[in-house]
Amino acid sequence: MAVEENQISLAYAQRMDEEDPLRKYRSQFHFPSQEDGTPFVYLCGNSLGLQPKATKEFVNRELENWKNLGIEGYFHGKNPWLRYHEYLAEAMAKVVGGKPEEVVVMNTLTVNLHLMMVSFFRPEGKRCKILMEADAFPSDRYAVESQLRFHKLDPKDCLITLNARPGEVLLRSEDIKEVIDQNGDEISLILLGNTNYYTGQFYNIKEITKWGHEKGCFVGFDCAHGAGNVPLELHDSGCDFAVWCNYKYLNSGPGGMGSAFVHERHHKDPAMPRFEGWWGQNKERRFLMEDQFDPIPTVEAWQLSCTPIMAMAPIWSSLQLFDEAGFVNLRKKSISLTAYLELLVKSLGEELVEIITPSDLEQRGAQLSIRVKNENKSLFDKITEAGVIVDWREPDVIRVAPAPMYNSYEDVFLFYCILKEALTERQSIDLSSMIKGG
Ligand SMILES: *Cc1c(COP(=O)(O)O)cnc(C)c1O
Repeated sequence: MAVEENQISLAYAQRMDEEDPLRKYRSQFHFPSQEDGTPFVYLCGNSLGLQPKATKEFVNRELENWKNLGIEGYFHGKNPWLRYHEYLAEAMAKVVGGKPEEVVVMNTLTVNLHLMMVSFFRPEGKRCKILMEADAFPSDRYAVESQLRFHKLDPKDCLITLNARPGEVLLRSEDIKEVIDQNGDEISLILLGNTNYYTGQFYNIKEITKWGHEKGCFVGFDCAHGAGNVPLELHDSGCDFAVWCNYKYLNSGPGGMGSAFVHERHHKDPAMPRFEGWWGQNKERRFLMEDQFDPIPTVEAWQLSCTPIMAMAPIWSSLQLFDEAGFVNLRKKSISLTAYLELLVKSLGEELVEIITPSDLEQRGAQLSIRVKNENKSLFDKITEAGVIVDWREPDVIRVAPAPMYNSYEDVFLFYCILKEALTERQSIDLSSMIKGG
Protein backbone atom coordinates (compact mmCIF):
# COMPACT_ATOMS: atom_id res chain seq x y z
CA MET A 1 0.00 0.00 0.00
CA ALA A 2 1.20 3.48 -0.84
CA VAL A 3 2.12 5.62 2.10
CA GLU A 4 -0.33 8.53 2.32
CA GLU A 5 1.36 11.76 1.46
CA ASN A 6 1.53 14.26 4.27
CA GLN A 7 -1.17 16.78 3.51
CA ILE A 8 0.44 19.41 5.69
CA SER A 9 3.23 20.21 3.28
CA LEU A 10 3.98 22.62 0.50
CA ALA A 11 4.61 19.69 -1.84
CA TYR A 12 1.10 18.36 -1.26
CA ALA A 13 -0.46 21.79 -1.85
CA GLN A 14 1.52 22.23 -5.05
CA ARG A 15 0.54 18.81 -6.32
CA MET A 16 -3.14 19.64 -5.68
CA ASP A 17 -2.63 22.82 -7.72
CA GLU A 18 -1.12 20.87 -10.60
CA GLU A 19 -4.14 18.60 -10.64
CA ASP A 20 -6.63 21.48 -10.44
CA PRO A 21 -8.57 21.72 -13.72
CA LEU A 22 -9.34 25.40 -13.00
CA ARG A 23 -5.75 26.46 -12.27
CA LYS A 24 -5.43 28.52 -15.45
CA TYR A 25 -7.89 31.12 -14.16
CA ARG A 26 -5.45 32.34 -11.52
CA SER A 27 -3.27 33.96 -14.17
CA GLN A 28 -6.26 35.91 -15.44
CA PHE A 29 -6.37 38.06 -12.30
CA HIS A 30 -4.21 40.83 -10.90
CA PHE A 31 -2.86 40.11 -7.41
CA PRO A 32 -1.86 43.02 -5.20
CA SER A 33 1.82 43.06 -4.26
CA GLN A 34 3.84 44.00 -1.23
CA GLU A 35 6.44 46.77 -1.40
CA ASP A 36 9.17 44.38 -2.52
CA GLY A 37 7.00 43.10 -5.34
CA THR A 38 5.98 39.77 -3.72
CA PRO A 39 2.30 39.16 -4.29
CA PHE A 40 0.10 39.06 -1.20
CA VAL A 41 -1.60 35.82 -0.27
CA TYR A 42 -5.08 37.14 -1.01
CA LEU A 43 -7.92 35.31 0.74
CA CYS A 44 -10.38 38.16 0.94
CA GLY A 45 -12.65 37.54 -2.06
CA ASN A 46 -15.57 37.56 0.35
CA SER A 47 -15.04 41.30 0.84
CA LEU A 48 -13.58 42.46 -2.46
CA GLY A 49 -12.83 40.11 -5.32
CA LEU A 50 -9.70 40.66 -7.39
CA GLN A 51 -9.57 42.43 -10.73
CA PRO A 52 -9.76 40.21 -13.81
CA LYS A 53 -7.08 41.22 -16.29
CA ALA A 54 -9.72 41.52 -19.00
CA THR A 55 -11.70 44.14 -17.09
CA LYS A 56 -9.63 47.07 -18.27
CA GLU A 57 -10.30 46.12 -21.86
CA PHE A 58 -14.05 45.87 -21.22
CA VAL A 59 -14.12 49.34 -19.68
CA ASN A 60 -11.80 50.81 -22.29
CA ARG A 61 -13.99 49.49 -25.07
CA GLU A 62 -16.92 51.51 -23.75
CA LEU A 63 -14.76 54.59 -23.24
CA GLU A 64 -13.74 54.24 -26.88
CA ASN A 65 -17.35 53.81 -27.95
CA TRP A 66 -18.30 56.93 -26.06
CA LYS A 67 -15.36 58.79 -27.58
CA ASN A 68 -16.11 57.69 -31.13
CA LEU A 69 -19.88 57.38 -31.14
CA GLY A 70 -21.26 59.82 -28.57
CA ILE A 71 -24.99 59.27 -28.17
CA GLU A 72 -24.91 56.84 -31.10
CA GLY A 73 -23.29 54.35 -28.71
CA TYR A 74 -26.80 53.52 -27.52
CA PHE A 75 -27.67 52.08 -30.90
CA HIS A 76 -24.38 51.29 -32.65
CA GLY A 77 -21.04 49.72 -31.87
CA LYS A 78 -20.57 46.07 -31.11
CA ASN A 79 -22.71 46.07 -27.98
CA PRO A 80 -25.20 48.94 -28.08
CA TRP A 81 -25.71 50.45 -24.62
CA LEU A 82 -29.48 50.39 -24.89
CA ARG A 83 -29.45 46.66 -24.29
CA TYR A 84 -26.24 46.47 -22.27
CA HIS A 85 -27.73 44.94 -19.10
CA GLU A 86 -29.31 42.21 -21.21
CA TYR A 87 -25.89 40.91 -22.24
CA LEU A 88 -25.21 39.95 -18.62
CA ALA A 89 -28.52 38.36 -17.70
CA GLU A 90 -27.91 34.86 -18.92
CA ALA A 91 -24.49 34.39 -17.33
CA MET A 92 -25.65 35.96 -14.08
CA ALA A 93 -28.76 33.78 -14.06
CA LYS A 94 -26.55 30.69 -14.32
CA VAL A 95 -24.44 31.78 -11.36
CA VAL A 96 -27.47 32.21 -9.08
CA GLY A 97 -29.80 29.59 -10.54
CA GLY A 98 -32.47 31.92 -11.86
CA LYS A 99 -34.04 32.37 -15.28
CA PRO A 100 -32.52 35.22 -17.32
CA GLU A 101 -35.80 37.15 -17.10
CA GLU A 102 -35.68 36.87 -13.30
CA VAL A 103 -32.22 38.41 -12.88
CA VAL A 104 -31.05 41.97 -13.49
CA VAL A 105 -27.94 43.97 -12.67
CA MET A 106 -28.95 47.40 -11.39
CA ASN A 107 -28.17 50.00 -8.71
CA THR A 108 -26.30 48.78 -5.65
CA LEU A 109 -27.15 46.21 -3.03
CA THR A 110 -28.72 48.28 -0.26
CA VAL A 111 -30.66 50.33 -2.82
CA ASN A 112 -32.04 47.12 -4.29
CA LEU A 113 -32.93 45.85 -0.84
CA HIS A 114 -35.05 48.96 -0.31
CA LEU A 115 -36.68 48.60 -3.72
CA MET A 116 -37.55 44.99 -2.97
CA MET A 117 -39.01 45.93 0.40
CA VAL A 118 -41.20 48.51 -1.31
CA SER A 119 -42.61 45.57 -3.27
CA PHE A 120 -42.55 42.76 -0.73
CA PHE A 121 -42.98 44.35 2.65
CA ARG A 122 -46.68 45.14 2.69
CA PRO A 123 -47.73 45.56 6.29
CA GLU A 124 -51.46 45.15 6.76
CA GLY A 125 -53.34 44.87 10.04
CA LYS A 126 -51.63 42.48 12.35
CA ARG A 127 -49.38 41.12 9.60
CA CYS A 128 -46.85 43.90 9.89
CA LYS A 129 -43.57 42.38 11.01
CA ILE A 130 -40.23 41.58 9.47
CA LEU A 131 -38.13 38.60 10.50
CA MET A 132 -34.34 38.80 10.10
CA GLU A 133 -31.15 37.50 11.70
CA ALA A 134 -30.09 39.17 14.95
CA ASP A 135 -26.55 39.49 13.63
CA ALA A 136 -27.43 40.50 10.09
CA PHE A 137 -25.03 42.77 8.20
CA PRO A 138 -25.60 46.27 9.62
CA SER A 139 -26.72 47.80 6.32
CA ASP A 140 -29.55 45.26 6.12
CA ARG A 141 -30.58 46.07 9.65
CA TYR A 142 -30.61 49.82 8.94
CA ALA A 143 -32.59 49.24 5.75
CA VAL A 144 -35.17 47.09 7.52
CA GLU A 145 -35.61 49.39 10.50
CA SER A 146 -35.94 52.44 8.28
CA GLN A 147 -38.57 50.67 6.17
CA LEU A 148 -40.53 49.88 9.32
CA ARG A 149 -40.35 53.50 10.43
CA PHE A 150 -41.32 54.64 6.95
CA HIS A 151 -44.54 52.65 7.42
CA LYS A 152 -44.99 54.31 10.85
CA LEU A 153 -44.14 51.05 12.60
CA ASP A 154 -41.86 50.76 15.58
CA PRO A 155 -38.93 48.37 15.08
CA LYS A 156 -39.21 47.54 18.79
CA ASP A 157 -42.59 45.93 18.10
CA CYS A 158 -42.28 44.89 14.49
CA LEU A 159 -38.79 43.51 14.06
CA ILE A 160 -38.36 39.89 15.06
CA THR A 161 -34.79 38.65 15.15
CA LEU A 162 -33.42 35.13 14.94
CA ASN A 163 -30.87 34.40 17.60
CA ALA A 164 -28.54 31.50 18.10
CA ARG A 165 -29.08 29.57 21.32
CA PRO A 166 -27.12 30.76 24.32
CA GLY A 167 -23.53 29.59 24.02
CA GLU A 168 -23.91 28.88 20.27
CA VAL A 169 -23.06 31.03 17.26
CA LEU A 170 -24.94 29.28 14.45
CA LEU A 171 -28.67 29.35 13.85
CA ARG A 172 -30.36 25.98 14.00
CA SER A 173 -32.76 25.26 11.24
CA GLU A 174 -35.37 23.86 13.67
CA ASP A 175 -35.24 27.15 15.59
CA ILE A 176 -35.82 29.15 12.40
CA LYS A 177 -38.82 26.97 11.65
CA GLU A 178 -40.21 27.36 15.12
CA VAL A 179 -40.02 31.15 15.02
CA ILE A 180 -41.77 31.15 11.64
CA ASP A 181 -44.43 28.70 12.82
CA GLN A 182 -45.11 30.70 15.96
CA ASN A 183 -45.04 34.20 14.47
CA GLY A 184 -45.83 33.61 10.81
CA ASP A 185 -49.32 35.11 10.98
CA GLU A 186 -47.82 38.43 11.99
CA ILE A 187 -44.87 38.37 9.62
CA SER A 188 -45.15 40.18 6.32
CA LEU A 189 -41.56 39.61 5.22
CA ILE A 190 -38.80 37.14 6.05
CA LEU A 191 -35.44 38.54 5.03
CA LEU A 192 -32.29 36.56 5.68
CA GLY A 193 -28.74 36.83 4.48
CA ASN A 194 -28.42 33.55 2.69
CA THR A 195 -24.83 33.12 3.79
CA ASN A 196 -24.13 34.92 7.03
CA TYR A 197 -21.30 37.39 6.57
CA TYR A 198 -19.84 36.72 10.00
CA THR A 199 -20.16 32.99 10.56
CA GLY A 200 -20.17 31.89 6.93
CA GLN A 201 -23.28 29.78 7.65
CA PHE A 202 -25.24 29.04 4.48
CA TYR A 203 -28.96 28.53 5.07
CA ASN A 204 -31.24 26.19 3.20
CA ILE A 205 -33.20 28.81 1.33
CA LYS A 206 -35.66 26.38 -0.23
CA GLU A 207 -36.69 25.07 3.17
CA ILE A 208 -37.00 28.53 4.74
CA THR A 209 -39.01 29.75 1.74
CA LYS A 210 -41.41 26.84 2.12
CA TRP A 211 -41.95 27.49 5.82
CA GLY A 212 -42.51 31.20 5.16
CA HIS A 213 -44.90 30.65 2.28
CA GLU A 214 -46.93 28.15 4.29
CA LYS A 215 -47.57 30.98 6.72
CA GLY A 216 -48.39 33.51 3.99
CA CYS A 217 -45.17 35.55 4.33
CA PHE A 218 -43.01 36.90 1.53
CA VAL A 219 -39.49 35.50 1.65
CA GLY A 220 -36.38 37.22 0.33
CA PHE A 221 -32.65 36.74 0.69
CA ASP A 222 -29.60 38.95 0.75
CA CYS A 223 -27.14 36.85 -1.20
CA ALA A 224 -24.15 39.21 -0.91
CA HIS A 225 -22.01 36.36 0.45
CA GLY A 226 -23.74 33.68 -1.56
CA ALA A 227 -23.64 34.89 -5.16
CA GLY A 228 -20.69 33.34 -6.96
CA ASN A 229 -19.92 31.31 -3.86
CA VAL A 230 -22.61 28.73 -3.14
CA PRO A 231 -25.30 27.11 -5.30
CA LEU A 232 -28.36 29.29 -4.78
CA GLU A 233 -30.95 27.79 -7.13
CA LEU A 234 -33.02 30.91 -6.65
CA HIS A 235 -35.76 29.95 -9.08
CA ASP A 236 -36.27 26.46 -7.69
CA SER A 237 -36.10 27.69 -4.11
CA GLY A 238 -39.31 29.57 -4.86
CA CYS A 239 -38.21 32.64 -2.89
CA ASP A 240 -39.92 35.88 -3.84
CA PHE A 241 -36.81 37.97 -4.32
CA ALA A 242 -33.10 38.14 -3.73
CA VAL A 243 -30.48 40.88 -3.89
CA TRP A 244 -26.72 40.78 -3.92
CA CYS A 245 -23.64 42.83 -4.70
CA ASN A 246 -21.21 41.83 -7.40
CA TYR A 247 -17.96 43.05 -5.90
CA LYS A 248 -17.38 40.19 -3.47
CA TYR A 249 -17.12 36.74 -5.08
CA LEU A 250 -18.18 38.21 -8.42
CA ASN A 251 -15.12 40.45 -8.82
CA SER A 252 -16.73 43.54 -10.28
CA GLY A 253 -14.75 46.22 -8.45
CA PRO A 254 -15.15 48.44 -5.39
CA GLY A 255 -18.67 49.75 -4.95
CA GLY A 256 -19.67 47.91 -8.10
CA MET A 257 -23.28 47.51 -9.08
CA GLY A 258 -25.71 45.15 -7.37
CA SER A 259 -28.24 42.70 -8.73
CA ALA A 260 -31.76 41.60 -8.04
CA PHE A 261 -33.86 38.49 -8.60
CA VAL A 262 -37.64 38.56 -8.63
CA HIS A 263 -39.40 35.25 -9.09
CA GLU A 264 -41.32 35.06 -12.36
CA ARG A 265 -44.62 34.51 -10.56
CA HIS A 266 -44.57 38.22 -9.67
CA HIS A 267 -43.65 39.62 -13.06
CA LYS A 268 -47.10 40.21 -14.46
CA ASP A 269 -48.86 41.26 -11.29
CA PRO A 270 -50.66 44.51 -12.20
CA ALA A 271 -51.08 45.37 -8.51
CA MET A 272 -47.37 45.10 -7.71
CA PRO A 273 -46.34 47.99 -5.47
CA ARG A 274 -43.08 49.27 -6.89
CA PHE A 275 -41.00 52.40 -7.21
CA GLU A 276 -40.75 52.96 -10.95
CA GLY A 277 -38.57 54.72 -13.49
CA TRP A 278 -38.20 54.93 -17.25
CA TRP A 279 -35.79 51.99 -17.57
CA GLY A 280 -38.60 49.72 -16.36
CA GLN A 281 -40.83 50.91 -19.15
CA ASN A 282 -41.87 48.69 -22.07
CA LYS A 283 -38.84 48.77 -24.37
CA GLU A 284 -40.85 49.37 -27.55
CA ARG A 285 -42.55 52.39 -26.06
CA ARG A 286 -39.83 53.85 -23.84
CA PHE A 287 -38.79 56.53 -26.28
CA LEU A 288 -42.34 57.56 -27.08
CA MET A 289 -42.09 59.39 -23.76
CA GLU A 290 -45.66 58.55 -22.79
CA ASP A 291 -47.13 59.28 -19.36
CA GLN A 292 -48.54 55.80 -18.90
CA PHE A 293 -46.10 53.31 -17.30
CA ASP A 294 -46.25 49.96 -19.03
CA PRO A 295 -43.85 47.70 -17.12
CA ILE A 296 -41.52 45.28 -18.88
CA PRO A 297 -42.97 41.86 -17.94
CA THR A 298 -39.69 40.72 -16.33
CA VAL A 299 -37.55 41.76 -13.37
CA GLU A 300 -36.39 44.63 -15.60
CA ALA A 301 -39.59 46.46 -14.57
CA TRP A 302 -37.75 47.27 -11.31
CA GLN A 303 -34.98 49.16 -13.14
CA LEU A 304 -35.09 52.90 -12.59
CA SER A 305 -32.37 54.64 -14.56
CA CYS A 306 -30.49 54.16 -17.77
CA THR A 307 -27.67 51.69 -17.36
CA PRO A 308 -24.35 52.94 -15.92
CA ILE A 309 -22.26 51.35 -18.66
CA MET A 310 -18.81 51.96 -17.14
CA ALA A 311 -19.88 50.27 -13.91
CA MET A 312 -21.48 47.37 -15.69
CA ALA A 313 -18.60 46.56 -18.02
CA PRO A 314 -16.46 45.03 -15.21
CA ILE A 315 -19.30 42.70 -14.24
CA TRP A 316 -19.58 41.46 -17.77
CA SER A 317 -15.87 40.76 -17.93
CA SER A 318 -16.01 38.76 -14.70
CA LEU A 319 -19.14 36.87 -15.69
CA GLN A 320 -17.44 35.65 -18.82
CA LEU A 321 -14.91 33.87 -16.63
CA PHE A 322 -17.66 32.34 -14.50
CA ASP A 323 -19.44 31.20 -17.61
CA GLU A 324 -16.33 29.66 -19.05
CA ALA A 325 -15.19 27.96 -15.84
CA GLY A 326 -18.71 26.75 -15.01
CA PHE A 327 -20.27 27.32 -11.61
CA VAL A 328 -20.56 23.59 -10.87
CA ASN A 329 -16.79 23.17 -11.38
CA LEU A 330 -16.05 26.21 -9.24
CA ARG A 331 -18.19 24.88 -6.41
CA LYS A 332 -16.46 21.51 -6.64
CA LYS A 333 -13.06 23.12 -6.30
CA SER A 334 -14.33 25.43 -3.58
CA ILE A 335 -15.46 22.50 -1.44
CA SER A 336 -12.06 20.87 -1.75
CA LEU A 337 -10.06 24.07 -1.22
CA THR A 338 -12.00 25.06 1.88
CA ALA A 339 -11.80 21.53 3.26
CA TYR A 340 -8.03 21.81 2.88
CA LEU A 341 -8.03 25.11 4.76
CA GLU A 342 -10.15 23.47 7.47
CA LEU A 343 -7.76 20.54 7.79
CA LEU A 344 -4.76 22.84 8.17
CA VAL A 345 -6.41 25.21 10.63
CA LYS A 346 -7.72 22.34 12.76
CA SER A 347 -4.21 20.91 12.96
CA LEU A 348 -3.23 24.02 14.96
CA GLY A 349 -5.21 22.67 17.87
CA GLU A 350 -8.36 23.63 19.71
CA GLU A 351 -6.49 25.56 22.35
CA LEU A 352 -5.42 28.12 19.72
CA VAL A 353 -8.24 28.27 17.19
CA GLU A 354 -11.87 27.36 16.70
CA ILE A 355 -13.69 27.37 13.37
CA ILE A 356 -17.18 28.77 13.91
CA THR A 357 -18.35 28.13 10.35
CA PRO A 358 -20.34 24.88 10.03
CA SER A 359 -18.30 21.83 9.09
CA ASP A 360 -21.27 20.54 7.07
CA LEU A 361 -20.56 21.22 3.37
CA GLU A 362 -24.24 21.93 2.73
CA GLN A 363 -24.09 24.74 5.23
CA ARG A 364 -21.04 26.65 4.10
CA GLY A 365 -19.32 28.13 1.09
CA ALA A 366 -15.72 29.21 0.61
CA GLN A 367 -15.39 31.18 3.83
CA LEU A 368 -14.17 29.90 7.17
CA SER A 369 -14.50 32.17 10.19
CA ILE A 370 -11.72 31.35 12.59
CA ARG A 371 -11.94 32.40 16.20
CA VAL A 372 -8.43 32.94 17.53
CA LYS A 373 -8.39 32.31 21.26
CA ASN A 374 -6.83 34.78 23.67
CA GLU A 375 -5.81 37.00 20.78
CA ASN A 376 -6.68 40.46 19.56
CA LYS A 377 -6.29 42.52 16.43
CA SER A 378 -2.50 42.59 16.82
CA LEU A 379 -2.45 39.01 15.57
CA PHE A 380 -4.28 40.10 12.47
CA ASP A 381 -1.85 43.00 11.99
CA LYS A 382 1.01 40.57 12.29
CA ILE A 383 -0.26 38.24 9.58
CA THR A 384 -1.03 41.18 7.33
CA GLU A 385 2.53 42.35 7.76
CA ALA A 386 3.72 38.87 6.86
CA GLY A 387 1.95 39.18 3.51
CA VAL A 388 -1.56 37.81 3.96
CA ILE A 389 -4.76 39.68 3.17
CA VAL A 390 -7.75 38.31 5.06
CA ASP A 391 -10.18 40.21 7.22
CA TRP A 392 -10.77 40.78 10.87
CA ARG A 393 -14.08 41.08 12.69
CA GLU A 394 -14.12 42.17 16.29
CA PRO A 395 -13.67 40.77 18.80
CA ASP A 396 -11.62 37.77 17.69
CA VAL A 397 -12.60 36.40 14.29
CA ILE A 398 -10.50 36.13 11.14
CA ARG A 399 -12.54 35.53 8.02
CA VAL A 400 -10.66 33.61 5.36
CA ALA A 401 -12.18 32.86 1.98
CA PRO A 402 -10.23 31.01 -0.69
CA ALA A 403 -12.01 31.94 -3.93
CA PRO A 404 -11.98 28.93 -6.25
CA MET A 405 -11.68 31.15 -9.31
CA TYR A 406 -8.20 32.44 -8.48
CA ASN A 407 -6.93 31.00 -5.22
CA SER A 408 -4.62 28.01 -5.01
CA TYR A 409 -3.95 25.27 -2.50
CA GLU A 410 -0.55 26.88 -2.10
CA ASP A 411 -2.22 30.16 -1.02
CA VAL A 412 -4.08 28.24 1.64
CA PHE A 413 -0.91 26.50 2.78
CA LEU A 414 1.02 29.78 2.99
CA PHE A 415 -1.76 31.33 5.04
CA TYR A 416 -1.59 28.36 7.41
CA CYS A 417 2.19 28.74 7.85
CA ILE A 418 1.94 32.46 8.59
CA LEU A 419 -0.98 32.02 10.99
CA LYS A 420 0.83 29.23 12.77
CA GLU A 421 3.95 31.32 13.16
CA ALA A 422 2.00 34.32 14.45
CA LEU A 423 0.06 32.21 16.95
CA THR A 424 3.02 30.33 18.32
CA GLU A 425 5.23 33.42 18.46
CA ARG A 426 2.57 35.08 20.56
CA GLN A 427 2.43 32.05 22.79
CA SER A 428 6.11 32.15 23.55
CA ILE A 429 5.85 35.85 24.44
CA ASP A 430 2.98 35.04 26.80
CA LEU A 431 4.96 32.28 28.32
CA SER A 432 8.00 34.42 29.03
CA SER A 433 5.92 37.25 30.51
CA MET A 434 4.21 34.70 32.71
CA ILE A 435 7.53 33.43 33.89
CA LYS A 436 8.76 36.96 34.59
CA GLY A 437 5.53 37.77 36.39
CA GLY A 438 6.30 34.77 38.58
C1 LIG B 1 -21.43 43.47 1.62
C2 LIG B 1 -22.80 43.52 2.15
C3 LIG B 1 -23.57 44.69 2.08
C4 LIG B 1 -23.03 45.97 1.48
O1 LIG B 1 -24.05 46.70 0.87
P1 LIG B 1 -23.74 47.80 -0.26
O2 LIG B 1 -25.06 48.40 -0.48
O3 LIG B 1 -23.18 47.09 -1.45
O4 LIG B 1 -22.73 48.74 0.30
C5 LIG B 1 -24.88 44.65 2.57
N1 LIG B 1 -25.39 43.52 3.12
C6 LIG B 1 -24.65 42.38 3.20
C7 LIG B 1 -25.28 41.16 3.79
C8 LIG B 1 -23.35 42.35 2.74
O5 LIG B 1 -22.65 41.24 2.85
